[in-house]
Amino acid sequence: MTSDISARDRARWVELVEQIELHRRHYYLQDKPVISDQEYDKLFRELILLEEKFPLLQTADSPTLSVGGAKAEPFEPIEHLTRMYSLDNVFDDAELESWRNRIVKDLGAEPVYLGELKIDGLAVDLVYRNGMLASVATRGDGRVGEDVTYNSQFITAIPRALTGNPPRLLEVRGEIYFTLVEFDKLNGEVVALGKSAFANPRNAAAGSLRQRIDRREEEIVKATNNPKTSTAKLTSLRDDLTHAQRILSSLQLTVHGIGAVEGVELDSQSSGYKLLADCGLPTSMHYKVGIDPSEFISYWQQHRHDVEHEIDGVVVKVDNFELQAKLGETSRAPRWAIAYKYPPEVVTTKLIDIKVSVGRTGRITPFAQMQPIKVAGSIVEMATLHNQEEVKRKKILIGDTVYLRKAGDVIPEVIGPVVEARTGAETEFEMPSKCPACGSKISAEKVGDVDLRCPNAQSCPAQLIERLFYIGSRSALDIEGLGQKAAAALVDEGLLTSEADLFNLTPSSLEKSSFFTKSVAGELQLNMAAEKLLAQLQIAKSRPLWRFLVALSIRHVGPTAAQALATHFKSIEAIATSEAAELAELDGIGEAIAISIKEWFSESWRSQIVTSWSKAGVNMIEQQKQQQSQELAAVTVVITGSLPGFTRDSAAAAVTDRGGKVTSTVSKKTDFVVVGENPGSKFDKAQELGVPVLDAAGFEVLLTAGAQAARASLGLS
Ligand code: NAD
Repeated sequence: MTSDISARDRARWVELVEQIELHRRHYYLQDKPVISDQEYDKLFRELILLEEKFPLLQTADSPTLSVGGAKAEPFEPIEHLTRMYSLDNVFDDAELESWRNRIVKDLGAEPVYLGELKIDGLAVDLVYRNGMLASVATRGDGRVGEDVTYNSQFITAIPRALTGNPPRLLEVRGEIYFTLVEFDKLNGEVVALGKSAFANPRNAAAGSLRQRIDRREEEIVKATNNPKTSTAKLTSLRDDLTHAQRILSSLQLTVHGIGAVEGVELDSQSSGYKLLADCGLPTSMHYKVGIDPSEFISYWQQHRHDVEHEIDGVVVKVDNFELQAKLGETSRAPRWAIAYKYPPEVVTTKLIDIKVSVGRTGRITPFAQMQPIKVAGSIVEMATLHNQEEVKRKKILIGDTVYLRKAGDVIPEVIGPVVEARTGAETEFEMPSKCPACGSKISAEKVGDVDLRCPNAQSCPAQLIERLFYIGSRSALDIEGLGQKAAAALVDEGLLTSEADLFNLTPSSLEKSSFFTKSVAGELQLNMAAEKLLAQLQIAKSRPLWRFLVALSIRHVGPTAAQALATHFKSIEAIATSEAAELAELDGIGEAIAISIKEWFSESWRSQIVTSWSKAGVNMIEQQKQQQSQELAAVTVVITGSLPGFTRDSAAAAVTDRGGKVTSTVSKKTDFVVVGENPGSKFDKAQELGVPVLDAAGFEVLLTAGAQAARASLGLS
């Protein structure tokens, strides 16, 4: 009842509607949202819940009853033959379950579901009459969209004429989108012009499609006929047009729905897709009939980066048309379909500051410190900005609201600023002239380098901490107790002034550090961290030679180069005394690495590290490998997913220690693809190319009994 609605609820309803409408304008009309989709969805969800609680609040023009995008000037309106809808969203398994329960309740039984990818693009409506393209329109408000037929002629993905035996009339719905490669390219160009990056491929597709190409052409004709037009002006107008047309031509299309049809009877969504494909329309490669919705959702959640375009979720549809009709639609969305949205990969947050860090090799790296925010499943508050040129290129200011994403789902990346959200209080970042850790003057190592470095390699505490941390890492000596915090404590509390003394650490030296001690009945004792570090240092002394080479932080000497050096020269002594030319001759080394090795050993404080470690009992020679070690000679392996008992590095090392080669791409030359838990696209690639696939048990066979036994375990000769 109306009287039950408090003034506060009413005010909140008004506030939510105003905010949603404002953000819809930014999103649909300007293609430039100022809040993230997640924030928008939260507002929308709150409005739905409020109206469910107080149905009387819902007016006929509530956003919950309409499809978001109204048609905008300057395009001509065009009426769709049948209505276009949005989709209802669910965000977790419980919500999906209640949608399914409603379907079962309404239909009396569970129907056959069809699963599809939810492409992050722009919905369009294409009408074909007698097999020829008659019109292309945006979704608009679902009844009337914008006529973009003229622009669509530049989109090569949209067929002008259908093939096969097309029906008299065919109204098709689909998604216009950019592949991720094209999207990144476009955003790079946009940001370089000092504009806000597109928040997502959908806004980019909408912004690119909704340009009046015809008016630009008219302008060029006028300018050409005007004798006063300068050649420069004409060239710039022509370049702009060519650019806009190029961007349009890189748009893709995938069709995912059928509106009005005349001349053919269809009984299901999937039979419709077969017809569309026969007509030469681009249907998705990834739709699947008869799915278990939960399985389909979780499969694509893990494989969302295996497709060339962004997906923001999957869509589950009831396949049968009769059942779809029985379920019907609300004024906003069909009841027979649901979008399961994945956690957002692009969010907006505040850039609080830009600070700099000092790396292992003295490189000064600016990084963004942001208001903590959840993106792609984890909380992010820092992201590297690589170098000062990158900060300039991205045109970000301290205090900006920025778009943030997880590149490849792992590394946080600031895409660019939300220019529209600026208040004027933002300030420009200035790269410091001195190292924040030791005060040395920072500079580029040589002319033309974008990276600036702290030259004080020997005693800059930040560089030393990073080098110690690296020594402890899995790529180097794999010393469990030597993490970032322990490394910082060793340097900050004055226990080490060089890595040379690392293996000379004793219980009594660690007793001086608060990080490595605990108080027991008022008495200071070594804690677990200290015991672990001391024990692990002992174990680390006998690691293979190549790992020591990696641990020395010689520029460009990573595991591959270190293994080549260790195998050939057999001792640190031999490497240190070899001529640069001799080093460079080695396969995988080359001149740059050779020079870097010679430079490293020529500095006395550095060669002192080797002397000191050697005195402390560290292995400095290549140990005779066990008999089995060369059993995998000439065997190439690709490893994907996590294998029980192995880290990524140790699994690779297990192969290389036996003479095998580990590569990152699957090709016909690959002998085995080893697949652990949560494998990536390499698994699919292996199947596609018919490369033998080993699971964890098969990998064990490969390591212990060799390639032939591993093939035999798969039933191969
Ligand atoms: P939607 O994007 O959640 O889903 C509907 C659309 O999905 C369809 O119109 C269609 O174009 C598309 N789609 C992609 N693949 C499909 C497939 N296989 N089958 C069917 N449809 C498919 O809904 P919407 O109404 O288009 O947009 C609302 C969403 O837009 C919000 O949830 C929010 O994420 C975003 N939005 C953000 C802001 C903002 O300010 N950030 C403002 C408005 C809207």
